[in-house]
Amino acid sequence: RDQGLGSWPVRRARKTPEDVALIHDDRAMTYAELRERVVRLAHALRRAGVGPGDRVAYLGFNHPSFLETLFATGMLGGVFVPLNARLAGPEVAYQLADSGASVLIHAQPVDDLPVTAIAREELDRLPAADEPIDVPVALDDPCMIMYTSGTTGRPKGAVLTHGNITWNAVNVLIDHDLIAREVALVSAPLFHTAGLNMLTLPVLLKGGTCVLTGGFDPDATFDLIERHRVTFMFGVPAMFQAVARSPRWAEADLSSLRLLTCGGAPVPPSLIATYQERGLTFLQGYGMTEAAPGTLFLDAAHAVSKAGSAGVPHFFTDVKVVGLGGLEEVPPGETGEVVVNGPHVMPGYWGLPEETARTFTDGWFRTGDAARLDSDGYAYIVDRIKDVIISGGENVYPAEVENALLADPDVVECAVIGIPDERWGETGRAIVVPREGSNLTTERLLAALSGRLARYKLPTSVVFTDEIPRNGTGKILKSRLRATYGGAD
Ligand code: ATP
Ligand code: MG
Repeated sequence: RDQGLGSWPVRRARKTPEDVALIHDDRAMTYAELRERVVRLAHALRRAGVGPGDRVAYLGFNHPSFLETLFATGMLGGVFVPLNARLAGPEVAYQLADSGASVLIHAQPVDDLPVTAIAREELDRLPAADEPIDVPVALDDPCMIMYTSGTTGRPKGAVLTHGNITWNAVNVLIDHDLIAREVALVSAPLFHTAGLNMLTLPVLLKGGTCVLTGGFDPDATFDLIERHRVTFMFGVPAMFQAVARSPRWAEADLSSLRLLTCGGAPVPPSLIATYQERGLTFLQGYGMTEAAPGTLFLDAAHAVSKAGSAGVPHFFTDVKVVGLGGLEEVPPGETGEVVVNGPHVMPGYWGLPEETARTFTDGWFRTGDAARLDSDGYAYIVDRIKDVIISGGENVYPAEVENALLADPDVVECAVIGIPDERWGETGRAIVVPREGSNLTTERLLAALSGRLARYKLPTSVVFTDEIPRNGTGKILKSRLRATYGGAD
């Protein structure tokens, strides 16, 4: 019996065949059509030699063929490998070789790769086939190898089972009260975990509609929300920031939006306030690729009273904030490392047994993120432990300083890194993108901070620039900033 994702379109088509599953470029695809396309593709992939455990990669921005490939591969008991469409040629080659993919479905030409390459348009011309392929797939079987964002180093392939993905989707359905009439706007990339697992797959499991966009355009976002009466959207902070800065922000009809979820990087309090002032339910979530990814979420009832918090664990998730290295919980108010346990946490990294062993302690996944709990058990993500600045023996978490800097309306973007300091060991340096035409100065910025942050947290220098390097998920590449700006004065 197929318990895996490959059975989802078949089961959905049995239940709600005429409902719209996907909309892309104003073309709608019903669940019956999705099932048909998935079945055809599964037969074609089997003819190409794909069987249980074999890897099938996909390279491209959001498009129905991404999901067709995921489901068809699942139906064969194969393993889906979504690749970041922004990767350069050698990076694609590395991930294909690392995952050992034998077939690649792609939206862009690829040269000289040792795989069977199929352009995504070819999926429109496959021979008819109506019988789903009957391969027993268990929840513990691997469903995909999803690479982490590569913020702290080379991306690692997280092996996610069908059960991991399913339990995560169930968590989202339960905790965000998804309904069958949900209309999700999917402009976050499907090749990253949140766009796929926090938005698209839970909505498809429930029988709602996903509007897929091949890229993210803040102005087009308003058209899509209005035209499709979008109810649900996920974005990383950088996306929501761009939407709120659009000239259309003030006037657009956003009355259909029921729920906005935001995560994947520190969510500035000023961003939360902007959305709440617009009357929207804007909830922070926290997770990581390895946990498929939903880990913490802020419940709507506490959106205002706990604004800034990443919330509480999902329904089938256990989270602790522990001391370094161990599993001993730190008291409320103290900062420790977030560890996660639950049926959605990966069994391990692909081909990295030592890295896997290092990141688990007695079944708990160590996230490498620092957080503290308040006395009600609500979590506040502090920052990545790797980015901590140790100044005169005190830990300074850059995200806290960045949030304080962002409170200045003349600061468009900023990042804080540690630089060597003879007296304190390390001190913070702020890299700031000022608003165009503002006359922001180092003195003014630091004076504004000094009343709000402890002295040891204050940056000792500020560099003004016009761009901060980010990866595809909109996360600041601290390693690159450290290489450029990390030298002592
Ligand atoms: P890599 O593991 O390759 O270095 P990555 O950790 O950025 O990259 P992802 O799995 O996409 O890869 O991101 C998960 C990380 O994103 C978390 O470990 C955390 O550091 C950060 N993150 C996610 N949600 C939040 C949030 N709400 N607030 C702060 N940070 C967050
Ligand atoms: Mg990570």
